[in-house]
Amino acid sequence: MKKYFDKKESWSNKERKERQDESLSAMVKLGYKKSHRLKAILDANKINPKSIKTREDLEKLPVTSREKLVEMEMQEPPYAGLENPSVPIDRIFTSPGPVYEPHLSENDCLWARAFFAAGIGPKDIALNAFSYHLVAAGLTFHNGLRKVGATVVPSGTSSSQIQVQLIKDLKVTAYVGTPSFLMSIINKAKEMGFSFKKDFRLKKACFAAEPLLAALRQAFEKEYGIDTYQMYGATEVGDVAYECSQKNGWHICEETIVEIVDPATGKNVPAGELGEVVVTRLNEIFFLLRFGTGDLSRLITEKCPCGRTSYRLAGIAGRVGDAVKVRGLFLTPSQLKMISVKFNNLPLQAVVNHQGHDDILKLRLEKIMPEIGASKWEENFKKTFREICTVKIDQIEYVERGSIKTDSKLIIDERRW
Ligand SMILES: [Zn+2]
Repeated sequence: MKKYFDKKESWSNKERKERQDESLSAMVKLGYKKSHRLKAILDANKINPKSIKTREDLEKLPVTSREKLVEMEMQEPPYAGLENPSVPIDRIFTSPGPVYEPHLSENDCLWARAFFAAGIGPKDIALNAFSYHLVAAGLTFHNGLRKVGATVVPSGTSSSQIQVQLIKDLKVTAYVGTPSFLMSIINKAKEMGFSFKKDFRLKKACFAAEPLLAALRQAFEKEYGIDTYQMYGATEVGDVAYECSQKNGWHICEETIVEIVDPATGKNVPAGELGEVVVTRLNEIFFLLRFGTGDLSRLITEKCPCGRTSYRLAGIAGRVGDAVKVRGLFLTPSQLKMISVKFNNLPLQAVVNHQGHDDILKLRLEKIMPEIGASKWEENFKKTFREICTVKIDQIEYVERGSIKTDSKLIIDERRW
């Protein structure tokens, strides 16, 4: 039986670096020719594309944050001029911002390494509970599952009752989605009178888009007999890292160059130190170099007992900026500002907390006008909020005029991981 998805996973560090440096150098040269935005960035920084030969040379380039990418795409929709106009694009995804991403290619092995490492293969029937519309998640995880030969049930964001039905009727063996949603499915199954462990065959779960809390992982594994795996990526750059059976750090995908940098300087921090995860995906379609994820992590350079030779990320320690993820979705200060403007510069503040294993999003709003708080007004506000931020509000707290100071943070994250 194959031990790894492909032989790249057991390359020596030297071989991996040489091949990645080669691809990077080719990508920058091609990007300079095809993407006028990349050309402009390199020219502005007085960088000759031929001088980017190794991953160390990337430090000469600025880090592009998600906010910066949104700004660039707003100036020049849809891809900020970062694309290769000569390559046909398979699909276009969006994520809140809005940001548009040309799908790398349906032939790409996106997420397949992660599923392989989690032991998913042709004998599995996998429930893919990620959204299939607009965002990249559903279809890219689907593709990855197909690449390892699994049968996919594209259940998307159907209700937990439907998911339970599918797990039961189709004898589903693996789950792909967020950990909190799996827990609601388990709770729903209990409500419907089933014993998740005894009545169902679901024994593996691959999670993304949300941190997997230790207590929750333990519950899945001990109480329900589900072997759990974490996957890490970003819509803008695809899959970035994945957990192997050792469950001690996430192996960096072979198609990406990951740097851990000091967010203030953009320079790499010494191996093992905490910094921002900055990703360059080696490809010929979208020339986004040094994408700053805003996530904090550190690199594990010691060899992994699983035999894969790639370095690992030691999980995610938090967020660099003020943007936070609520139920796996980004909530950024810029989105909140946009909403405030739409409602007459309404002073507002988002507070994110936990209730059990679920994220709870509360909005604090100042009653600056009498109609604020009326059911019709609230309905309209919630609808606009959801359109801009994607994520749903759980609670609204109306506060007196002047309660939210102009210099206070737009998002307060009270969760403790
Ligand atoms: Zn490993």
